Amino acid sequence: MSEAARLLLETAQRGELHHAILCYGPSAQALRDVSVGIAKTLNCLNGTQGDDCTACQRIERRIHPDVHFIEVAGERKMISVEQIREIVAAASLRPFEGRNKIFIIDPAHAISVGGSNSLLKTLEEPARDTTFILLTRSPDLLLPTIRSRCQMIFVGGEPEENDALAASIAAGLTRFSDNRDSAALLGLASLIASQDDVSDAVALLGKVLCDAVAGRLPLSIERERLLAAADATTAAIRWLNVNADARMLVEQALAELVV
Ligand SMILES: [Zn+2]
Repeated sequence: MSEAARLLLETAQRGELHHAILCYGPSAQALRDVSVGIAKTLNCLNGTQGDDCTACQRIERRIHPDVHFIEVAGERKMISVEQIREIVAAASLRPFEGRNKIFIIDPAHAISVGGSNSLLKTLEEPARDTTFILLTRSPDLLLPTIRSRCQMIFVGGEPEENDALAASIAAGLTRFSDNRDSAALLGLASLIASQDDVSDAVALLGKVLCDAVAGRLPLSIERERLLAAADATTAAIRWLNVNADARMLVEQALAELVV
């Protein structure tokens, strides 16, 4: 656990945590760990930062009635306005049994624009004993209206390499490079758009393209084309936040490779 994460848990233990925090950093797992750590600290029956009491155990198993995990569900790859309305309603109720209601939004950059707007008032004036924990790779991916209502905390950690997906991306690009086979690009777009966290997958595509530019992945594709496609992945990640069609965006980015 990073120094920042440790300080965060100590702040929570003293009861001095801000009611809305935006934890960010490159490691999705480190962010999840710290959010669960905060939930335990705020609800542990023994006042620890996490032990084997029944509250901590149920938080770990995700069955504690006052600790809510809000994640991407369904085809749209977004946290929907309906999901946000549910937590806004739940946030107005008293805790069932814990001392604190916790809402962990993972990843917060997947909240739809409509969802973000529904969340603003609750983030600004939350009910007592309510803590919102938003997790994201980068605060830049969130709307400024959300960011400005949260205390931002860098959690640190190393990015997890999704080796299998990176290998599939490299294989798809190599196939296109060898045969100029545009079906390889369509297959790649489909693979990336089907990932649970599409924006992470698009970011990984951008990283593999940059590896190719740097010569770490040998492709016979012009450097300018690779750079244009890498730039297009950055733009695509922004568009994903406004609910655009993921597959189309990735296809457009990859189309930059075709002269
Ligand atoms: Zn406990």
